[in-house]
Amino acid sequence: MQRTLIKDTINQINKTVLLKGWVSVRRDHGKLIFLDLRDRTGLIQLVINPKVSEEAQTTANEIRSEFVIEIEGTVKEREAKQINPEMETGKVEVEVTKLNIISRAKAMPFDINSDTRSVSEEVRLKYRYLDLRNDRMKKNLKLRHKIIQFIRNYLTDMDFTEVQTPILTKSTPEGARDYLVPSRIYPGKFFALPQSPQQYKQLLMVAGLEKYFQIAPCFRDEDARADRSPGEFYQLDLEMSFIEQEDILQLIEKMYTELVKTVAPEKHISITPWPRISHKESKEKYDNDKPDLRKDKNDPNELAFCWILDFPLFTEQTEDDFFHGSGNSKWAPSHHMFTAPKAEDLALLDKDPGKVRGLQHDLVLNGVEIGGGSIRIHDPKVQEKIFDLIGFSKEQKQNFAHMLGAFEYGVPPHGGIAPGIDRFVRILAGEDKIAEVIAFPLSGSVRDPMMGSPSEVSDKQLKELHIKIDLPKTKEKK
Ligand code: ASP
Repeated sequence: MQRTLIKDTINQINKTVLLKGWVSVRRDHGKLIFLDLRDRTGLIQLVINPKVSEEAQTTANEIRSEFVIEIEGTVKEREAKQINPEMETGKVEVEVTKLNIISRAKAMPFDINSDTRSVSEEVRLKYRYLDLRNDRMKKNLKLRHKIIQFIRNYLTDMDFTEVQTPILTKSTPEGARDYLVPSRIYPGKFFALPQSPQQYKQLLMVAGLEKYFQIAPCFRDEDARADRSPGEFYQLDLEMSFIEQEDILQLIEKMYTELVKTVAPEKHISITPWPRISHKESKEKYDNDKPDLRKDKNDPNELAFCWILDFPLFTEQTEDDFFHGSGNSKWAPSHHMFTAPKAEDLALLDKDPGKVRGLQHDLVLNGVEIGGGSIRIHDPKVQEKIFDLIGFSKEQKQNFAHMLGAFEYGVPPHGGIAPGIDRFVRILAGEDKIAEVIAFPLSGSVRDPMMGSPSEVSDKQLKELHIKIDLPKTKEKK
């Protein structure tokens, strides 16, 4: 017999079905035992009546919440007063004829059917596979899937090619610390996990791809920050050739408008076309560079997008700046070092770098920066000038020789953007925390309590890598 999915039982009245799933709740009413059975498509009430099957009743006595079972039974229409309007299958129930326990479950460490947001982060992440049984969490994962699916289809239709770029790579400074991976074959040398595929996507433009995207994992070794998944996060990374900034703004505005209509029709974009605000105006008017333009901040369905443009190309280096001490300069790139200056400000690069505006664009939604990008420098001379201005030494420049080198073989003008996936899904899901829309996030203290990572590795592994651990005394005791 073929398995029937729970959502389909309503079309199987008086038919015999085979159902498989988890027992959500067991209610013992003396003779009758009721089980709520759950599969990926829904929930249904099972009735175990000793008059129908004594054997099933004996087995049902053993059943506890979250046991995995399979049953055969007849789908019956419920009497009017038994109808449960809260349940999608509330008009029917299944009278069990055969019952088999597939696997047993211990008592749950927390109530997985309630709002698990009130459970401690440590416990939820340790038992994430149970937390994800929760309806809300499943909905969030499905929404994330739909969003990514929409983006893939939309961009594919627009002639973009999705390309996977390496995870084992070389540091691409985006202003954060790199995660390093030691090389066994080249002792003492390291790969870095990409902070973003920035250099690769630009090189794909040199390669002539013209339209690239990727749902790209990005790795940044930072302390936990509000609204950023610690350690790793996902971006819709995108790059195009022979375009202007306007083309990027229009593509994104059109795609997100369609996306919201399709995936979250209950939401409405309150200001169209999306306002474009200069960085200077935003600072003056809102005292920040990610203004919340919602008309009614209590409306959970309002989405107010805007663009922030005309950023200064440089900011002054601060002590905790990644670029601090990189050379003898006081300037750090305000976006990244590949962002092109505005053509009309080029002359200022030598005279007054602080006044140069960049072709950067930030995408803001409801007061949250959800993406950024820029038109890139494609003239190796300008790129080198930027390296000089941020104080790169000869050796530091050498790290980017492949970029400058590539630009000497015919480089198209190009630019792109990388909207974050996690934050956007969080906002559409109406969640406060980004971890609610990630299947297996790291904790706020940048650990995975379920896998127990990060973890120590064996002496053999360390030896192969020629690595000696040298912990400070205080930490050794722990
Ligand atoms: N790589 C940039 C970032 O991660 C985005 C871009 O410039 O396209 O912020």
